[in-house]
Amino acid sequence: MYEFEYSRATSLEDAASKIGADEEAKLVAGGMTLLPTLKLRLAKPTQLIDLATLPQLKGITEEGDAVVIGAMTRHADVNRSDVVKRGIPALAAMAGLIGDPAVRNRGTIGGSIANNDPAADYPAAVVALNATVTTNTGKHTGDSFFKGLFETALSDGELVTSVSFPKVEKAAYMKFPNPASRYAMVGVFVAKTAGGVRVAVTGAGPCVFRVKAMEDALAKNFSSDAIKDIKVPADGLNSDIHASAEYRAHLVNVMARRAVDAANK
Ligand SMILES: Cc1cc2nc3c(=O)[nH]c(=O)nc-3n(C[C@H](O)[C@H](O)[C@H](O)COP(=O)(O)OP(=O)(O)OC[C@H]3O[C@@H](n4cnc5c(N)ncnc54)[C@H](O)[C@@H]3O)c2cc1C
Repeated sequence: MYEFEYSRATSLEDAASKIGADEEAKLVAGGMTLLPTLKLRLAKPTQLIDLATLPQLKGITEEGDAVVIGAMTRHADVNRSDVVKRGIPALAAMAGLIGDPAVRNRGTIGGSIANNDPAADYPAAVVALNATVTTNTGKHTGDSFFKGLFETALSDGELVTSVSFPKVEKAAYMKFPNPASRYAMVGVFVAKTAGGVRVAVTGAGPCVFRVKAMEDALAKNFSSDAIKDIKVPADGLNSDIHASAEYRAHLVNVMARRAVDAANK
């Protein structure tokens, strides 16, 4: 690790002004991604500002037709929440598939979506549910938040405060996990809400993406049969020691059909 200053945020404004004033400053949430990055000397921040001292960023509430999750809420809390289980059972189940118990007890939804790892699970839920990401300066739709590999719409000095998910009629998430890390080799979140049907894929490409052809077919007939012949092209998908682009393309169809079947149960 390189040397850095560490401070605990005293307020949202304090955290925002510190990261706004210093390009090399970093927020720390659960530290599950940031700390390994520092240990490997892949990042050299001047200061870390800890968000753990801000209780207003934690917690889960029901607000009409939405479930609102504070940025510092840990995956384990989303997994166990009765509010999430009632409104969006697929989201609670998805949180329970992230990493291992240690990761789920430290990692947060804000850290996960701000990091936008191409194999992370939450981006699929945020896009499939077209969730609203609230920050200290405004709001982003699920569709506009994730911009590319490890890239989001957050600007300098902007931090995630909460994510609002609409309750679902039917939804399910299916992932083919990397056996070592449990990150998604491919994960597909299928959701039917008042806003329509959406299919979001993580792990397969450099950034989460939607499969419009599947969405159109499922809007007419919400059954796995309706999408059995819809394939995504392997061009541009990730290819690494774990799986080729062609294999990932194949998995998108398999996981999507399994997700529809699970949503229909
Ligand atoms: C062994 C292992 C296995 C994992 N497996 C999975 C998996 O299967 N699926 C999965 O989805 N994830 C997985 N993860 C990732 C993990 O779940 C965390 O979500 C992720 O590490 C980031 O969350 P964090 O709270 O730890 O953020 P941190 O590591 O503290 O921060 C990550 C980044 O986000 C920024 N940040 C944090 N909070 C905010 C905020 N509120 N606003 C703006 N920026 C912010 C930080 O500055 C930093 O750049 C795994 C991690 C590990 C170590």
